[in-house]
Amino acid sequence: MDTKAIKHTLKAYSLRQTECREEILAIFLNKAHALAHADVETQMSEKFDRVTVYRTLKTFLDKGLIHKVLDDEGSIKYALCKDNCHQDDHHHHHDHVHFKCSSCGLTTCLDHVVIPAVVLPEGYKRVETNLLVQGVCKDCNAKQLG
Ligand SMILES: [Zn+2]
Ligand SMILES: [Zn+2]
Ligand SMILES: [Zn+2]
Repeated sequence: MDTKAIKHTLKAYSLRQTECREEILAIFLNKAHALAHADVETQMSEKFDRVTVYRTLKTFLDKGLIHKVLDDEGSIKYALCKDNCHQDDHHHHHDHVHFKCSSCGLTTCLDHVVIPAVVLPEGYKRVETNLLVQGVCKDCNAKQLG
């Protein structure tokens, strides 16, 4: 991933360019799976403190550059938003399924697998729906077969 693309993305989301933002974005762009706060931190150069990393993740979330992934055991991870996150101007959609692999431990966005509509009882208002499917991912499955 070249720095030009990173700068372009930050600009597209009207984010001021900082070294920390560029570095965190690069980490997400280089990984195909969701990352926990600690995963981001361990991949960064030493010079950024915890609070700065935390704030940057929060900013990315607010701007719709990344979204939250509710992992198993209640842990929270973050994944890069794709174009299909933004279906209309007023609402940011994340109605895709997440998959947690028990073999490699990675959680990935299944961008094209849409969470089926859930009909709620009267009086309940949906804000968002999270669906985590657990099992063995494509890569691990291939390894086991080969
Ligand atoms: Zn999104
Ligand atoms: Zn796996
Ligand atoms: Zn996702």
